[in-house]
Amino acid sequence: MSFTKKQQIIAAFEKLDAFTLSNLLDDEKTYQDVPKSLFVERYREYFDGLKEDASVICDFKAYPGKCEGCSKGKIGYSFVNSEGTCFGEFVFVEDEDDFSDIYVCHDFNSTNEDILDHYNGITFCDDEKVGYMLTFDELVEKDFCLRALNEIQSELKKNKILSLEFIKEWHKKYNPHYGDLKIFGSKHYSFTLLITNYLGNIRNALSFIELSNKSALYLELLKDKVFADDEAKMMWMMACMEDIPDINLYLHAKVNEEENYISFGRINIDLKYMTDYIKLQKLFQQNSNLLPYSVLMSLPWDWKTPSAMTDTENDCERDDDEEFPF
Ligand SMILES: [Zn+2]
Repeated sequence: MSFTKKQQIIAAFEKLDAFTLSNLLDDEKTYQDVPKSLFVERYREYFDGLKEDASVICDFKAYPGKCEGCSKGKIGYSFVNSEGTCFGEFVFVEDEDDFSDIYVCHDFNSTNEDILDHYNGITFCDDEKVGYMLTFDELVEKDFCLRALNEIQSELKKNKILSLEFIKEWHKKYNPHYGDLKIFGSKHYSFTLLITNYLGNIRNALSFIELSNKSALYLELLKDKVFADDEAKMMWMMACMEDIPDINLYLHAKVNEEENYISFGRINIDLKYMTDYIKLQKLFQQNSNLLPYSVLMSLPWDWKTPSAMTDTENDCERDDDEEFPF
């Protein structure tokens, strides 16, 4: 049995096979407004991500359907697995024996009515689209972004762990201007994506370093022997929570204890800048049972250690009866 080219393209999507897709699609054509090579490259990354994700079952099948919005009435396919996860819905524009275009559709009416979870597929930036001409202002701002990007990326190549001086300096140099860029409107640019990411992570790292400096003061205070008393310690914790409300925030950073660094996205910094914050947070977790029930309930779930929970549950049954008439 031989398959038509169209059937083979659909099958390549089903199998998340970017290599075959690259062989079947046409070098001369654009897909979803971008050159074929970029289209295939992004879908290769996207497919790899799905294949590496242990929670995704890769038995996708194509289900036909119709666009109800962007190009109403055009035919396409939803790719759905046996668990009802859909990795994308596409319009496939048909020639006689090939597809002249393939693009993501966000208003798709699929014949599969059991889709439980939608992934969106790939969105391309405006400046990646064939024929997009940057204006003079856009070119100037692109240049600024590339300089910032280049500076941080070459530093990342040299040093796995960035120095505090470097990130402070880089942040000071680029953050204020970045916020003032005129290009942030309805358009999306490929050259701002990574910077936004780096800046966000650096901002996060710097604010946690500041919290860590504050934490050091509280740790120092705790050395006073008056805090051996549970009630005094509880007062200390309450004061601390008022001063550092973020102490009960879950730290969105990965700690590498072997190599002594902490990662905020791609930004690694020396663990020593964060030690006091981590120490203080641990201390809070271990002593969370000292806190009043109402405060305890506002803490993250993983702070409610089994001992804290059982102690408090027992206590609060009585407390509840006394304090609240329900
Ligand atoms: Zn559509």
